[in-house]
Amino acid sequence: WQNLDKSVLWHPFTQQSDWEAETQLVIERADGCYLIDSDNNPYLDGVSSLWVNIHGHRHPTIDQAIREQLERVAHTTFLGLTHPPGIELAQRLVDLAPGRLQRVFYSDTGAAAVEIALKMAIQYWQQCPSPQPQRTKFFALHSAYHGDTVGAMSVGGIEMYRHSYLSLLFPHVEARSAYCYRCHLQKTYPSCRMACLEEVERVISTHAHELAAVIMEPLVQAAAGIYVYPKGYTRAVWEIAKRHGLLFIADEVATGFGRTGKMFACEHEGIEPDLMAIGKGLTGGYLPLAATLTTEEVYRAFLGPGRTFYHGHTYTGNPLACAAALANLKVFEQEETLQRLELRIALMEEWLRSFRALPIVGDIRQCGFMVGIELVRDRKTKTPFPPEQRVAVRVIKEARKRGLILRPLGDVLVIMPPLAISHPELVRLLDITYAAIEKVAE
Ligand code: PMP
Repeated sequence: WQNLDKSVLWHPFTQQSDWEAETQLVIERADGCYLIDSDNNPYLDGVSSLWVNIHGHRHPTIDQAIREQLERVAHTTFLGLTHPPGIELAQRLVDLAPGRLQRVFYSDTGAAAVEIALKMAIQYWQQCPSPQPQRTKFFALHSAYHGDTVGAMSVGGIEMYRHSYLSLLFPHVEARSAYCYRCHLQKTYPSCRMACLEEVERVISTHAHELAAVIMEPLVQAAAGIYVYPKGYTRAVWEIAKRHGLLFIADEVATGFGRTGKMFACEHEGIEPDLMAIGKGLTGGYLPLAATLTTEEVYRAFLGPGRTFYHGHTYTGNPLACAAALANLKVFEQEETLQRLELRIALMEEWLRSFRALPIVGDIRQCGFMVGIELVRDRKTKTPFPPEQRVAVRVIKEARKRGLILRPLGDVLVIMPPLAISHPELVRLLDITYAAIEKVAE
């Protein structure tokens, strides 16, 4: 399989191909929190297959729901037609969503859900009751990640994902975000009183007249390296956006569906977005489905003669994916996933404290069940390892030898297990991670 793979496939992020190729596994089966390779070796899935398998793999309720839907219809266009799982799911999402989100527009990846939110925001200002068509720009935070399509990249703030495509991207304005471990203002939280918000306020007020919306990942910048903002930071940015009469887009693609301990991250700080992008955990890691949720006010601007939202995907609202998503939400209730998660989050926090004993652990950031461990050469000075040492990759290779799948973001080890991981599995995950870091630190 591996030879054939190498001869025909192009995997994402080829710049990592050397170590990715070395550690590549051929996954043939899965069971609960384990992925099983072609040699029958089980590996604990420490990243929920890129942050999506909430209840683990092959959950009987979700498997059954997909099978039952398959007996009815696997796919039909959503253009001019509709179907029960699509309608039922939209109703469930609206019930669960924060604030006044009441409309659901389906798509198939997180990037598309973001892209759609951006397009909706621009068109909203052309068509709303007091039109301001000059509002075509977006405010986003530096080091934000919103996906790899052109619009999503345009509001992204991680240079390596953007620099080759600058001529394609539309201009946006940004401010430095709160990455407290390496504060760009050299201040310390909480005595800083979130002084970094001043720049956010300044940039937004300078550009308010031309801004369509503020977009941000609530509570934590995930792909940047699990940069957890201080408490109240997300709400403060939302309030600035509201004060300037702007739309607020919450990108909950990574944080949605329990990852932060609540169904949506916005709930932690009482944020009421005008638009919200969701994806990843929506189907519990079963099928590609994403959605953009909006308020009725945004939706109404698209009604009326000659008004159309020019966006639609072939697989919009795929019935199989909607059935999987409905079953995913059912499991949340049946298994009291969020209630049970509270204890696991607390245990994770407690056990992670012991990692401070490891000399190369610089910072441990946790937001619910999202963890980033930043590795440094010198903890006192926070000096990073030279990039060529690829310290996190070495740790990941050690973890792999011990039966655990993790992924790095630069020198940050990311831990995002299924929310349903059992206590013994969580202990095993953390024990292996500890041993792997210890080995590399030798
Ligand atoms: N937004 C955020 C916050 C994300 O973390 C991601 C994916 N990591 C995306 C958008 C893009 O989602 P997808 O990979 O499904 O396009």
